[in-house]
Amino acid sequence: MSPPSASEILTPANPKGLRDIPFEIPAVDPVEKRRASRILDALTERYPDARCALDYSAAHELLIATICSAQCTDVAVNKATPALFKAFPTPKDYAASTPKKIEPYVKSLGFFRNKALAIHESMSVIAQEHGGETPSTMDELLALRGVARKTANVVLGNAFGINMGVVVDTHVNRIAKRFGLAPQDATVQAVERRLMALFPRDRWTDLSHRLIWHGRQVCKARGALCAGDDICRKFCSNSKGDR
Ligand code: SF4
Repeated sequence: MSPPSASEILTPANPKGLRDIPFEIPAVDPVEKRRASRILDALTERYPDARCALDYSAAHELLIATICSAQCTDVAVNKATPALFKAFPTPKDYAASTPKKIEPYVKSLGFFRNKALAIHESMSVIAQEHGGETPSTMDELLALRGVARKTANVVLGNAFGINMGVVVDTHVNRIAKRFGLAPQDATVQAVERRLMALFPRDRWTDLSHRLIWHGRQVCKARGALCAGDDICRKFCSNSKGDR
């Protein structure tokens, strides 16, 4: 008999049995879970090709692109990173350089001094403490400069296929609340935990991509196109249709 998966192991600290998740997952009732499942089905049908919009060809490049994406669009990041990745092919190349030499490559992205510093320091740690390999655990990623849960979830979910949480960016935060998946006053941390409770673990990364695509294509932060969209009509409290 094969050993139980992480999601099958029940522990008192975490009744949903996600033993490797170091915090409590909130309880949700089965009706909420069924509704969440219908939302995910509808989003999956609408956005079958939803994926990470950042360009990368190695885990450390995705980490850098995600650091660069703070307060700026993925399109702008994708314009800037080819030259950066060409100039610094490996974490060791960043470590051997300086933040000042990285700055020109990220200058177009805003907060470029902070971003160059975070790139240099995180790549230096990867080069010096991880043998040049991007770490694949939440704790190791969170120890890097410029990396919080959102960035770590992007890297783990997309570069390594590991679901340790849900990426909650501005779109996910907004739509989760509009779809009634989280309370209006929930913090980003509370939204993530609600989504982790409502959706199967193997869909957490998918879920964030699909919510982000709905956010970009239909539910734009300014001027949401609330009329006439099937998903909105079924699931959003802003729509005039039935929920
Ligand atoms: S109904 Fe409007 S506010 Fe709600 S998800 Fe759709 S576009 Fe966004």
